[in-house]
Amino acid sequence: MKISRNDTRTDSPTPQALHGQYLKAETVEDFRRNLAVINARIAAACHRVDRSADQIRLLPVSKTIDEAHIRLSYAAGCRFLGENKVQEAYQKWEAMQDLGDLRWSVIGHLQTNKAKRVARFADEFQALDSLRVAEALDRHLQHEGRSLDVLVQVNTSGEASKYGLPPAEVAGFLQELPAFSALRVRGLMTLALLSADSGRVRQCFIRLRQLRDQLRQQAPAAIGLDQLSMGMSGDFEIAIEEGATVVRVGQAIYGARATPDSLYWPTPAGAR
Ligand SMILES: *Cc1c(COP(=O)(O)O)cnc(C)c1O
Repeated sequence: MKISRNDTRTDSPTPQALHGQYLKAETVEDFRRNLAVINARIAAACHRVDRSADQIRLLPVSKTIDEAHIRLSYAAGCRFLGENKVQEAYQKWEAMQDLGDLRWSVIGHLQTNKAKRVARFADEFQALDSLRVAEALDRHLQHEGRSLDVLVQVNTSGEASKYGLPPAEVAGFLQELPAFSALRVRGLMTLALLSADSGRVRQCFIRLRQLRDQLRQQAPAAIGLDQLSMGMSGDFEIAIEEGATVVRVGQAIYGARATPDSLYWPTPAGAR
């Protein structure tokens, strides 16, 4: 079954099976239409659980997308883009300096030796999961005279090889973060299990929200926990139903990626 871009159904039994079927957006009109469809789906998901759509930030994810297509999405209104890999994001940032209000969120795992780059250009980092990276980012940010919004990445799926802190370690981690004054902690981020079983996907999102609710009782005052970044093209409606405030959507806006997800996060052999 081919799924058209305009399909607004929410009852697909296997939303993630749709990956690979998103048409590539080639014109500003395509982007406008894709964004309108996603915004309508966000609004519908909010409506189902009595939330307001203005509580949700749609973060378009432009990894693997070339500059020309990113410029089309900019023309359609995208101003804050998510990128998984620092090198790629940094090059795009440099190439599109003329778009003065275009901002970048790094949503992928970071090695300490790339912290300097992130400190230079990013406005947000969603995948903080080690004190070494926190320390390196803070040091370079101080040097640049900048600060950075950060989300702490939590491994809610229990997959051993996925990035992110185990839920039990997040409370202790948050206690350490006020020492890094250039980091403004805003909340938590997770990648759900990539599974056609929407019940198991939903459990990941529930786990993140419950963890956040617990942490609110004990986190240092300087630590913000309002933001929950969870949900991607295949599962953002479930995430919204479970409390997401940020959804990271790539393929449903830009079109299917040729590259497998295993390039962006480690996947247990054979799991997907
Ligand atoms: C690529 C990516 C996304 C978006 O995935 P899509 O399937 O393109 O919507 C979300 N989060 C992270 C961390 C990613 O790397």
